[in-house]
Amino acid sequence: PFDVLVVGGGPAGAAAAIYAARKGIRTGVVAERFGGQVLDTMSIENFISVKETEGPKLAMALEQHVKEYDVDIMNLQRAAELVRGPEYVEVKLQSGAVLKSKSVILATGARWREMNVPGEQEYRTKGVAYCPHCDGPLFKGKRVAVIGGGNSGVEAAIDLAGIVAHVTLLEFDSKLRADAVLQSKLRSLPNVTIITEALSTEVLGDGNKVTGLTYTDRATNEGHKIDLEGIFVQIGLLPNTDWLKGSEVELSNRGEIIVGAHGNTSMEGVFAAGDATIVPFKQIIIAMGEGAKASLGAFDYLIRSSAP
Ligand code: FAD
Repeated sequence: PFDVLVVGGGPAGAAAAIYAARKGIRTGVVAERFGGQVLDTMSIENFISVKETEGPKLAMALEQHVKEYDVDIMNLQRAAELVRGPEYVEVKLQSGAVLKSKSVILATGARWREMNVPGEQEYRTKGVAYCPHCDGPLFKGKRVAVIGGGNSGVEAAIDLAGIVAHVTLLEFDSKLRADAVLQSKLRSLPNVTIITEALSTEVLGDGNKVTGLTYTDRATNEGHKIDLEGIFVQIGLLPNTDWLKGSEVELSNRGEIIVGAHGNTSMEGVFAAGDATIVPFKQIIIAMGEGAKASLGAFDYLIRSSAP
């Protein structure tokens, strides 16, 4: 059995594994895809002290750093169930194998909900973006659309309006769902257009980059086209926690793992970190810090709970 078993191999999981291994305790990482969302990222410019890097490069560096230590990496393995036994926490894998550990750190991350329209995949990272904090500055002086009128969409539109030339916010419903204070801030901005009852239908491009977006006005059923350079999709971030539903680990109404100050969850010996948790602002640097914190939380738990 392990002392610390990390589920997830993104920035949070990698940081947790390194912090645990440095304590000289038996550490394992089980990951469906080592590297996580970082693998899908083009350029990263906000990982402090690294002026600029690329996602696959950072993912490789994460793996190499973990491999500097005695960590058992089990890649391409999906966790399917979490059970608290009398002595160990058990992680059951989809393969049927069962891993046992005195403590477990959940770092299964999240995924952006997609529009599922033609062109979205083709132009991902070529104008189709999901993270305004990450990619906003790339569209300085250009025209962008934000898809989604919930809090994250309206916050993104306000944020982007300060950087880009013009923002068009498209909402499927007949009204925005964001908090009133955000909506009035948005409406006060001179370079923002709000379109409601808009069903996005296609991302247009020239083969290399985004050139526009089409949508259907749901009230009139008419098709429209907007010329622009960027599209920020803000229709939800889904935590990868479906496998925990039905376990003792308490989730928020959005499915995020509820954590305390030490990264502790409601299940004894189980900690969590990164995009899968309620911790706000989903970013690499935040996920790494949370992973380190949860790992130290787990170590603290181990030295308090086990006999010398
Ligand atoms: P993830 O990176 O999501 O990693 C989760 C890990 O868990 C993966 O290894 C996954 O395979 C594994 N996993 C999931 N479910 C299971 C399971 N059931 N069993 C086993 N393993 C499982 N942030 C920035 O700071 N700067 C940027 O420029 C930036 N750009 C981004 C661009 C894009 C396109 C995207 C999608 C995200 C971007 N982000 C950026 C956000 C950043 O990538 C995330 O905040 C960060 O990766 C979260 O780390 P994490 O370890 O919590 O989760």
